[in-house]
Amino acid sequence: ATPTSIMVGTGRAAELGVLFRKGDALQTLAEAKVVAFDKTGTLTLGRPTLTTLHLAPGFDRAETLAAIAAAEAQSEHPIARSIETAALDEGLTLPPVKAFKAIPGHGLSASVGGQDLLVGTARLMHDHAIDTAPFADTLADLTAKGETPIFAAMDGRLSALLSVSDPIKDTARDTIRALHESGLQTALITGDTAATAQAVATALGIDHVEAEVLPGDKRDTIARLQDTHGATAFVGDGINDAPALAQADIGIAMGTGTDVAIESADVVLVSGNPANVLTALHVSRRTLRNIR
Ligand code: ADP
Ligand code: MG
Repeated sequence: ATPTSIMVGTGRAAELGVLFRKGDALQTLAEAKVVAFDKTGTLTLGRPTLTTLHLAPGFDRAETLAAIAAAEAQSEHPIARSIETAALDEGLTLPPVKAFKAIPGHGLSASVGGQDLLVGTARLMHDHAIDTAPFADTLADLTAKGETPIFAAMDGRLSALLSVSDPIKDTARDTIRALHESGLQTALITGDTAATAQAVATALGIDHVEAEVLPGDKRDTIARLQDTHGATAFVGDGINDAPALAQADIGIAMGTGTDVAIESADVVLVSGNPANVLTALHVSRRTLRNIR
């Protein structure tokens, strides 16, 4: 494309809420074969709420929720906020917490009331030889709804299964369909449980699912998509999306996301609306067509 046509395209996109931070991106996006999306905060609102708390036999509801919420109060994960808020809304008093440790991509460990508390994924429980089988049916039900399961254990005994729901943005489904109609493939990349990720992908019609991806592995997942499909765009919002945004042929950050994500991106969608991925694609394709 000529410098003039790129300037015109960049200006047009900016009026529509799409900031191309580099002229190259306008040209590269037109050649994209696949658009990969982060889930939480990109396709979903990123404001999870606690929907249910299932207790293992012998555990008291208020005591169990208060202990988990107390530990989550020390965590910066959006899931942590939903659990802390739910406990405080119920008027629970959060007990003191010692030895809090975040376990990135898995959850947390802490000491509450002299007991060792573990909160997070099924994999985290299995790594500590805690059997999650008693909750197998509940787990299947809640993941099928696209909700995220959070297990808790006290002193090595399974105590609760919590379910967290994060609604899908209302433009997400139409955006995926329009990308397919434009000849692109789509992918979902998330740290969330496979069954939950699959339910969300199915609801949205997304082609490929990469779930239970650890924070440090998102970049490699993008590299694999590039090897398999060719030019890859990645849309994300979080701190742990930054390496993947840099690795992608076109990194697209939600303007509502973290500064680190925005700084790593080639394109910023100011309002955080996934539909603006299409705006970016259309301006890009039109700019290249004009000059050929
Ligand atoms: P994502 O941002 O895609 O959810 P993360 O790598 O941050 O990915 O987390 C992966 C999974 O680890 C979450 O879906 C959740 O199950 C679990 N997890 C992470 N942090 C916490 C936490 N503070 N409390 C409970 N579960 C957590
Ligand atoms: Mg996110």
